[in-house]
Amino acid sequence: SQEKFDAIVVGAGPSGNAAAYTLARKGLNVLQLERGEYPGSKNVQGAILYAKALEEIIPDFRESAPLERHIIEQRLWMLDDSSYVGMHYRSEDFNEDRPSRYTILRAQFDKWFSQQVRDAGAVLLCETTVTELLRDESGRVIGVATDRDNGTVYADVVILAEGVNGLVGRRSKLREELQPESVALAVKEMHFLPKDVIDARFNLKGGEGVVIEGMGTITEGMTGTAFIYTNNESLSVGIGCLVSDLAQTGRSPAGLLEAFKNHPSVKPLLAGSEIKEYAAHLIPEGGLKAMPELFGDGWIVVGDAGHFVNAVHREGSNLAMTTGRLAAETVADLKQRGVPCSKANLRAYTKRLEDCFVMKDMKKYKDIPSFLHGNRHLFDLYPRLVSKAAQNWFRVDGKDKLTKEKEILTSFRKGRTLSGLLGDAFKMARAWR
Ligand code: FAD
Repeated sequence: SQEKFDAIVVGAGPSGNAAAYTLARKGLNVLQLERGEYPGSKNVQGAILYAKALEEIIPDFRESAPLERHIIEQRLWMLDDSSYVGMHYRSEDFNEDRPSRYTILRAQFDKWFSQQVRDAGAVLLCETTVTELLRDESGRVIGVATDRDNGTVYADVVILAEGVNGLVGRRSKLREELQPESVALAVKEMHFLPKDVIDARFNLKGGEGVVIEGMGTITEGMTGTAFIYTNNESLSVGIGCLVSDLAQTGRSPAGLLEAFKNHPSVKPLLAGSEIKEYAAHLIPEGGLKAMPELFGDGWIVVGDAGHFVNAVHREGSNLAMTTGRLAAETVADLKQRGVPCSKANLRAYTKRLEDCFVMKDMKKYKDIPSFLHGNRHLFDLYPRLVSKAAQNWFRVDGKDKLTKEKEILTSFRKGRTLSGLLGDAFKMARAWR
């Protein structure tokens, strides 16, 4: 007869690992299935690790997790073709005992996390793709089918931590197809440089790190951002844009990345580096309005599969880990009370999500995706105007300052009508609130 598990977790990314770890630690009998050769082999991420989400799961993770650098400086760049206007924040206070952000290499980090999951007692099967959900006559999910011979397995609940594509959920009609305006396609390269070169170029010492987030004409009016993250001996360099925008313009992310790397403000940071990896991946960026159903009879969705990403703040893995943990705590609680993982009982998951930053942030930013999408001038006209204004202001050329001020105002009015400017400010404030 077939063995039955308390829970099956589909996927061994941050959300699946958080769920499987939490369940195993609470004594549940957990099977985790991962289609990749090993956890992390299929994953692409910048990558910034937000410590708090992991600390809630493994409080002493800093003792053994493969961390690269802790972030002491954040740079936000608005780029046009030849310049950037930047906001930099750097603080010695970030050199603290328990830093809140680190760069990581996902392949190494996922392997480490997975080891903790197995040490906690969960069973992991790699190179195993879940093909569909199994249901009983009432429609309740009772297990999964996999691509292995005799590959059906049964459980009281299936946790779908399968990432943005959500193929199992889609095939099982739990969710709709991904909409091109709700997902970004991001590409990333790893640029290797000696540690001391990175330290010198970014003004760092010890394990300090810098994050650069860039937006502007580099995405040619499309909704998107670029990034540079400092690792110990490499830089993660990437760019991503909404799939709908890429389809409309016919531009390729690879071409945008090439242009970003050749931007005069970026090129010197990468000079002499050896490129070792190129990867592409989707990011669910549609926010609250694009979220699928999160639970039903015998199933529950976590992480990217549930569209839990805060695109404005570049947060994904922390939402993945937190939703994985909260789903697991919900399931473990039901198990302890001896009640089934029915749709009605799993509703407690929503309450847990709403009580913490996850749903509060998803709700706060629910209108941002639609505001950004379709307003090309935000990514094109404004960066050009701001750069022109800054250049005029800082160039000492014998022109008096009042004339400069007038020229700057005129260039804004010419670029965008007063009502357009006010309208954008109003819409932005409304979407942000
Ligand atoms: P995933 O990490 O995608 O894991 C899903 C796992 O499920 C995979 O291992 C996959 O192989 C497996 N799987 C899928 N289908 C099946 C199946 N049918 N059967 C078995 N296994 C299956 N987030 C941050 O917090 N900080 C960042 O700096 C950051 N940068 C990013 C940069 C890029 C370029 C990208 C693409 C994303 C970035 N993110 C970042 C987002 C972050 O990567 C995701 O939010 C996070 O990985 C989601 O975790 P997850 O476990 O839900 O999904």
